[in-house]
Amino acid sequence: MAINNHPSTISQEEIRVRGTVQGVGFRPTVYRLAKACNLKGEVCNDGQGVLIYVSGTTDAIAEFVQRLQLESPPLAQIESISRTPYRGDRVFCDFTIAQSVKSSVQTQIPPDAATCPQCQAETLDSRSRWYNYPFTNCTHCGPRLSIIRSIPYDRKQTSMAEFAMCPDCDREYHDIENRRFHAQPIACPVCGPRVWLEGANGEKIDTSNPIDTVCTLLKQGEIVAIKGLGGIHLACDATNETTVQQLRSRKQRYHKPFALMARDLGVIEQYCTLNAQEKELLQSPAAPIVLIDVIPNRDNCRDVACNVSTPKIAASVAPGQTTLGFMLPYTPLHHLILQRLDYPIILTSGNLSDEPQCIDNQDARLKLGKIADYLLLHNRDIVNRVDDSVVRV
Ligand SMILES: [Zn+2]
Ligand SMILES: [Zn+2]
Repeated sequence: MAINNHPSTISQEEIRVRGTVQGVGFRPTVYRLAKACNLKGEVCNDGQGVLIYVSGTTDAIAEFVQRLQLESPPLAQIESISRTPYRGDRVFCDFTIAQSVKSSVQTQIPPDAATCPQCQAETLDSRSRWYNYPFTNCTHCGPRLSIIRSIPYDRKQTSMAEFAMCPDCDREYHDIENRRFHAQPIACPVCGPRVWLEGANGEKIDTSNPIDTVCTLLKQGEIVAIKGLGGIHLACDATNETTVQQLRSRKQRYHKPFALMARDLGVIEQYCTLNAQEKELLQSPAAPIVLIDVIPNRDNCRDVACNVSTPKIAASVAPGQTTLGFMLPYTPLHHLILQRLDYPIILTSGNLSDEPQCIDNQDARLKLGKIADYLLLHNRDIVNRVDDSVVRV
């Protein structure tokens, strides 16, 4: 056995991790694994990704590097890990998370991620402090790219900077054991962004629950502009032919199919045949629009899953198409709007024909006020416009 590989040999290494490793809970994972492997040292974000110093036995360091690849957080994408002997003169007495280092930027900004199952459950749980809160998120889900002004990805460089954390959020943000440790957009009903409802004339609508009111308005055949994560959408009941035609003529979009959003896979299966790959895509953190085959002759369908009493999709949604573009709710706001809807809604980019999608409240009032009957807006700025992506299996 080579002497320098002896398990008790203490060595110090500098480990550089590149890829999508900021804003995805990477540092807490490094911290947890370093502790588990009995290593001392430090981890920080810098312009090139994540930099780790470790001090411990060679075996422990090898185990740490292996587990880092196997147990990296769900939204992280490691491109490379390079290891070099540590040449500095610091002595590490513990493992710590250091402040981000500002330097030339070469790292990747992570995309927004669809609400994770835990955050979704908390948003719908009346005992949770996130109950009915449309901006619930954690280290493994929520906005990233759409709110970042510059990197390293820290709260003060995002459009969350103007919302001072309440003591509860502050405690969770700093608690390494917590699911929201260093979740930059952490927010709650006490300290975070809020939504409100306006009429097309700009007048505030007096309602104690604007989101639930939107659901009622959609059921009544109204067109509502909804400010989401990466842009403002136009929404309406996808089963109401009159409303869909109205949307087409007001938006001056006469032919292109509209994208749909449904509460869950069960609702989509009333209209389309879903395979395993399509289900996986719909439920992935990227939450794209997936083009799915329509069940042919749905009216004669004998399949138990296919309940013909649910309303039909309006003919004007996707004229002449044998597929429909479906997505699942990817923010708590969308989960809350759809929770009382057993049929899909249209969710299409908020713009006039081929103009770019609106992201700004004032712009939306000006342009979408002519298309929508109501606007559901919020007071967090969308910094970067993020369009919904479309995929087909
Ligand atoms: Zn989450
Ligand atoms: Zn709070």
